[in-house]
Formats: sequence, structure tokens, C-alpha cells
Amino acid sequence: MDSEQQQQSLFCRICCLQQEEPPWGEDGQSPSYDICPCCGAEFGYEDCQLNAIQAYRTEWLKNSDTWFQPKKKPDNWSLKKQLNNIKPLE
Ligand SMILES: [Zn+2]
Repeated sequence: MDSEQQQQSLFCRICCLQQEEPPWGEDGQSPSYDICPCCGAEFGYEDCQLNAIQAYRTEWLKNSDTWFQPKKKPDNWSLKKQLNNIKPLE
């Protein structure tokens, strides 16, 4: 990953759900250690290395219509739409 891709992304690196706060902070270097309500990853842990992201994403996709925090799942949530946000990892 180059530095441009890491800038202020609002999206979970694993499931690509848009978050309210940037998971890696305004500078892309300061993980919030929040939990993604969709895939349950903790920013700064599960998403800090490409192979970890890949492994976690593979696990998440097996059960991706069940949210880690089901109460936060919007009624109109679409897995398909969210998967469109996912860019192939390098
Ligand atoms: Zn996520």
C-alpha cells in the first residue's frame, strides 16, 4: 500500500463499511481501536497487515450478512453494494 491509499479513509479495511470516524485517524497513522460494527475487526489490530486483512476478510465473508453488532445494521444495508467498495489488496 502506498501512502495515498492510506489517507483518511472512512472505510473499514476489511469489510469496507463506511465508518463515522476514520478507522486510522485523520492522518491515517493513528488507529482508533474501535470495533467495526459490521465485521467486528478492531482497527489497529486485525487491519494492520495485508495478510491479516485478507485472512479476516475471508472469515468475514463466510458469514457476512450477520453483523458483529446487529443493532447497527441499517435496514437498507446491502452486502453487494458494500462489496463494490472493496478494492483488491496488493
Ligand atoms: Zn469492517
